[in-house]
Order: sequence, then C-alpha cells, then structure tokens
Amino acid sequence: MSGIRPTGFLHLGNYFGAIRNYVRMQEEFECFFMVADLHSLTTHPDTKELKSNVHRVLAENIACGLDPDKAAFYCQSHVYETSELYLHLNMLAYKGELEKTVTFKEKARQHPQNINAGLLTYPVLQAADILIHRASLVPVGKDQEQHLEMARTFANRFNHRYGDVFPEPMAFNYSQELVKVPSLDGTGKMSKSENQMATLYLADSDEMIRKKVMKAKTDSGPTTPGAEKPDYITNIFLLLRLVSTPDVLGKFESDYDNCSIRYGDLKKQLAEDMVNFIGPIREKVNAIMNDENYLKAVMEKGAAKARESSRATMALVREAVGLNYF
Ligand code: ADP
Repeated sequence: MSGIRPTGFLHLGNYFGAIRNYVRMQEEFECFFMVADLHSLTTHPDTKELKSNVHRVLAENIACGLDPDKAAFYCQSHVYETSELYLHLNMLAYKGELEKTVTFKEKARQHPQNINAGLLTYPVLQAADILIHRASLVPVGKDQEQHLEMARTFANRFNHRYGDVFPEPMAFNYSQELVKVPSLDGTGKMSKSENQMATLYLADSDEMIRKKVMKAKTDSGPTTPGAEKPDYITNIFLLLRLVSTPDVLGKFESDYDNCSIRYGDLKKQLAEDMVNFIGPIREKVNAIMNDENYLKAVMEKGAAKARESSRATMALVREAVGLNYF
C-alpha cells in the first residue's frame, strides 16, 4: 500500500522512490495505491485545481507503468472507512510524539498561518491509509521512514489494547536501501512544491530538462586520483546511475578516479539520457490526461476494490474495540 499527494507535478524522486516499486510490486502482491487527496488538504486547502491535479497524478502513475487492472488504484477520499479508522487511531496517538515529527515541524515552519490539527495528525491518517488494508509492505522513499515507524507504533498500540488486528507495516524498496533522489543543486531532495528549478519533473519539456541538468552544481574536478566526491558530485553520479547505461556510468567513474573528468560532457550526457527517459513518459501522460472517461473508470474500479478491503478491516476493528452491542 502506498500513496502520493496530488499537490503538483510528479518528479524523478517520486518515480525512483515510489512508483518504480509499485510497478514491480503489482506483479507479485495484492496492491493498493492511492492518490492522497485528503492529505493534500492539510497544506493546500484551496481546491480549485484539485480535480486536475488528481487526474494528473493518476495519469502520471499509469504512464509510468502502474496497471489499474492489477493493483487497486483509487482516491483516498472515496474510501470513507479510512476516516473512521483515523478516529480510532487518533486516540492512540499522543500530542508529544506528533509534535516531534520532523515533517510536522517542517510544514509548520512553511505554513505558519495554517498549523491545523490535520497537519499535526498527518501521520495518523497515513497510518489509517495503510492499516485499513492491513498492509505489511509500504513502498516509500527515505523521507517517509519516520511516518512508517509511527504507523507501526499505532498498529502495535491498537493490537496491544484491543487484540491482534494489524500486521506491522514496513517501508519497502527493491534495492537495499530506501531511495532519496537529491535536488540538482545539492540542497535537499527533489520535491513537488519546493526548489522547482532543481527538480526534474515528468512533465518537463526536453529543453527544460537540458537547462536544469546543465545548471547542476559542479566544481573544477578532483586533483588527486581516487579523491572522495563532494556531495553535489555524488548526487550527479546518482542520477547518472538511475537513467544512463552501466557503460556510461563506468566511463565517467573512471574519468573521475583518474582526474580527467569533464563535467560539461558528463552533464550533456546526463541531460540526453534524462530526455530519453522522461520524454516518452510525458507523451503518455498527455494522452491519458485527455481521456477523462477512462480516468473516471479507473477511479471507480479502484474505489470498489479498496472499499471491499476497508469494510472487512473495519468490521474487525469495531468488534475488537467492543463496539458490538448494536
Ligand atoms: P513530495 O514530497 O514530492 O510532495 P509525496 O509526499 O507525495 O511527494 O511523496 C510521494 C512518494 O514519493 C513518497 O513515497 C515519497 O517517499 C517519495 N518521494 C518524494 N520525494 C522523493 C525523493 N526526492 N526521493 C525519493 N523518494 C521521494
């Protein structure tokens, strides 16, 4: 189970941190993927663009290979049972631990006029999204590690107080470690809403991709063989590893090691490989976005599957809590 907020254009971080795993997992597991529209209201209360943003996230995931016939692909707000579970979990979540959450502190800093209770209890709603399907594997990027730990805590507290209903959800990635795709200027992660000129979006034009990559921070190169890479150079190599062939990567690695690397050439190569990676996805997204009937059918089908699983969980939850006197 996993979700992405409809708060803007998807980027390379979303792709490599999350969607790439969805596409593999749908072949092996029963999967639930959702557009987290309710979560987006905690920071984006204006809903004028919500519908088109939801359509975009649906289309972008499908263009990346998510198959709505294999996985349940739905909108969070279409599954009402999640709100009920959220209420129960809120009684097992403590103010102190919620206030300490890194993402809460960050968002409170970014939106000082709107530090609402929904923002504070964001990890509780996220736990409800996961636990409503009694999911055990959650494909997310590294930035979500703390939220996952909180979801485990809430699941364990519930089980301890009322009896075993939930498995312990674990963050999941096919590679050894959770992925964090860095921003091109080396100051944090690629993100939907911040630092947009240092983030590569799946909707960026070829020209925009080239422009952003060519502006990535570099320096004059190493002067001693086998020197350690500074963070911003490690980041460029990380991007190269994601979209270029092993041969290309190997060539630039050895150029770096023997101090003959030319960052201009490296960035030109990276830009072209990035254009070849993102271009076809962008074209597919545009075609899917134009087919509203198809997107509606996807949402209906996904909601039906997600509701079935949610209803079964809530029957167990109500029974376990002791709300069985009706
Ligand atoms: P954003 O932070 O861009 O708004 P979301 O919060 O909607 O994205 O996260 C959607 C998924 O994408 C989550 O699984 C998150 O861990 C992953 N993700 C977001 N940014 C990155 C990044 N730069 N690197 C790796 N994974 C990321």
